[in-house]
Amino acid sequence: MEPIKTNLAVIGAGPGGYAAAFAAADAGKKVVLIEKHARLGGACLNCGCIPSKALLHASHHIPAAKESAKRGITFGPVTIDAPRLNEWKEGVLNKLANGIAMLAKKRNVTVLSGSAKFESASELAVEAEEGINLVEFEHAIVATGTQPAVPKMFDIGSPDVMTSTEALNLESVPKTMLVIGGGYIGMEMGTVYASLGTEVTMVEALDGILLGADPDLARPVLIYAKRNFKKVHLKTSVESLQSTDDGIHATFVAGDKRTDATFEKVLVSVGRVPSLDSLAIEKAGCEVDERGYLRTNENQQTSVCNVYAIGDIAGGILLAHKAAHEARKAVEHITGETHSRPNPLIPAVVFTDPEVAWVGLTEAEAKEKGIPHTVSKFPWGAIGRSLTQDRIDGATKLIIDPESEKLLGVGLVGPGAGELIAEGTLAIELGATAADLANTIHPHPTLSESMMEAAEMFYGRAIHALPKNS
Ligand code: FAD
Repeated sequence: MEPIKTNLAVIGAGPGGYAAAFAAADAGKKVVLIEKHARLGGACLNCGCIPSKALLHASHHIPAAKESAKRGITFGPVTIDAPRLNEWKEGVLNKLANGIAMLAKKRNVTVLSGSAKFESASELAVEAEEGINLVEFEHAIVATGTQPAVPKMFDIGSPDVMTSTEALNLESVPKTMLVIGGGYIGMEMGTVYASLGTEVTMVEALDGILLGADPDLARPVLIYAKRNFKKVHLKTSVESLQSTDDGIHATFVAGDKRTDATFEKVLVSVGRVPSLDSLAIEKAGCEVDERGYLRTNENQQTSVCNVYAIGDIAGGILLAHKAAHEARKAVEHITGETHSRPNPLIPAVVFTDPEVAWVGLTEAEAKEKGIPHTVSKFPWGAIGRSLTQDRIDGATKLIIDPESEKLLGVGLVGPGAGELIAEGTLAIELGATAADLANTIHPHPTLSESMMEAAEMFYGRAIHALPKNS
């Protein structure tokens, strides 16, 4: 069979890969996009960002409905039709995936279904059920992402020990579940299942959850978990899992104390590992770092100059918007057209209840690196909109350079924090000072007023907080 000749071959159709394919096609390149999963969209669409947020949205209504009894609005007992819920979620995923396929078609991007592997630094073989296609390329972009890490000790061959991929395809609501790992995936999935009525036990080896977030911002999420999960064990490790007739038997170790418990399901959420297995990357000659990610330079080029790597497979922060940014960077380097800024900020959001979001410098980082900073933190308890929502557990925190008064970082906790962080990101990118934020009129009553009030607080003149020396 004649090889398909193309300017650019993109391997993986996640938020990195399809963004790269589309940007290159828009710049006039002939593009082949290769994906082994039946549906386009990558981990983000199939088993990550989108299904998790769909389930968080759906399940959130259960505690919200129960809570509304105190406001005089009472609902009947909740029934959960797990297959129907799954069907709805799949409908959302299909709509998005069809949208990506349609955009690819309109741009004349050739989508090849199958698993790609390098034959050399200019040729790929794409294996599909129908046979093998060869693709000859001038440039390639590897965007093969990551997959859940399952340490050997947890890999006991039981379908009741799940990763996030299986946990997002719920067939029924388990009575009990052990969540191993208090990172964002464990906390988000724990929140979904606890809302659906599962007795969730969360175990985290560190002394806090949501590594990377300032501890004061993660605290309200921990309080939520302590209230709504059956148990939360910090500084505790899972030593072993064993499949028994009663369920999965887990042994925990905390210091010199050992305890046991049995669960219907176990979710292993202890991190992700690079997806390079099937790619024969050694045939292209690209260097891999000690953790198995592809090594890249500031232009996303691997050690082989016509092969680029973007998104999760290039390591660093494993987030969809980071992948999409790196897609543009790689394509701009290939086409020689530069539109994006170098080293933009990458905001992070955890979609728990409450949500946590941060961008730029965190307080912990500022302290650790000895960067001069002032923290201005405004509690949402003084924000009208928070009270109308019956949620006063939020806070807005600005990290400000005391000399220039420029914003260095923004941290938020509270319902809707994930939407608000965009203002902080834009403010820092534009070099805004606390005065810029304080002097910008924010609509009332909204949670965004907390950004303005936190900035006013820096000058000791927030309307809804007492002055510094009172
Ligand atoms: P991926 O999305 O992983 O896509 C890689 C694609 O490559 C896959 O479709 C795979 O099938 C394909 N592939 C791999 N090998 C081959 C091969 N040899 N041939 C052909 N195709 C191949 N990020 C956020 O920003 N916000 C969130 O809220 C968020 N929530 C998440 C929740 C969960 C439960 C998980 C697991 C992740 C979440 N993430 C979130 C992370 C996000 O999903 C990833 O950072 C993002 O998907 C990475 O994009 P990517 O394009 O690099 O790779």
